[in-house]
Amino acid sequence: MITTSGLTKRYGRILALDAVDLQVRDGDRYGLLGPNGSGKTTLLRLVLGLLYATAGQIELMGRPVPRHLAQVLSDVGALVEGPSAYGHLPGRANLRLLDAAGPNGARRTRRDRIEEALERVGLAGVDSRPVKAYSLGMRQRLGLAAALLRQPRLLVLDEPTNGLDPQGIREIRELLHDLNQGGTTVFLCSHLLGEVEQLCTRVGVLDQGRLVLQESVDTLRAATGRVLLRTPDADRAAVLLDGRIDARTGDLLVVRHPDPAQLNASLVRAGLRINEIGPERRSLESAVLEVIGAGSDRIERTAPA
Ligand code: ATP
Repeated sequence: MITTSGLTKRYGRILALDAVDLQVRDGDRYGLLGPNGSGKTTLLRLVLGLLYATAGQIELMGRPVPRHLAQVLSDVGALVEGPSAYGHLPGRANLRLLDAAGPNGARRTRRDRIEEALERVGLAGVDSRPVKAYSLGMRQRLGLAAALLRQPRLLVLDEPTNGLDPQGIREIRELLHDLNQGGTTVFLCSHLLGEVEQLCTRVGVLDQGRLVLQESVDTLRAATGRVLLRTPDADRAAVLLDGRIDARTGDLLVVRHPDPAQLNASLVRAGLRINEIGPERRSLESAVLEVIGAGSDRIERTAPA
């Protein structure tokens, strides 16, 4: 869907991107992570043909861009660098202008397309006040509605939940998930690890312009070989599992064991009550922080609600 090879961008003496080989596959929900200034926005803008590369190649849906950008752009929806809109016009009027300028044509069905897009982003009931009176979250939703009007095969989003409250973040996450189930590949950048962990199937990590990690979230969140066990009979469990317990906090035990199901069966046979049991997984946070080292304190770690 998106392939870059040796993609490099310089702004004068600043090397914003350094020989990036990125691969976003058909059907991915791909999250590009990185500290401030690591090159995320630059990469998104290059992919969309909004900037010229200093060196390297980009292919969008198999076509080299920017050379063949016109052939693929109608299949791409984008929300990059904040939603742009005519501030003095209401949201619907903005979408009408956009739709008229786009490739979808059919005036007859324009109203339905616009209402559907507004509904999908939670703006169905929006009144006729001008966009300049919208909150940042409402503008962000309007920008997404604009991106959706094209029913894109690929959706490119720069920090899509910027300015949204926790409820809004959840709604946008569900929307992107649904769109992806319907066949849209999602490529977004974010500095919110928790957001990417909850939404994305694959991640790329940029650090000072270099792509230092590209992997599926499942692989990164591999099991550690330990089991997390919550039991009201923690004292008895601690005796039974003597020598295998790495940590204990109240009724929660961390047990060195490769197979939670087997451990569960043996504890139940011994008459213990189990509240929760499952494999301990490496967090995306630890996988990411391992590769970005010094810049790590600039990635937001808290998970959105
Ligand atoms: P953030 O998370 O803060 O948005 P980012 O990861 O999106 O950051 P970029 O905005 O792509 O990073 O910037 C990468 C580097 O390129 C930074 O050092 C930035 O200062 C520099 N840069 C970006 N745009 C320009 C420009 N137009 N002129 C000069 N330098 C620029």
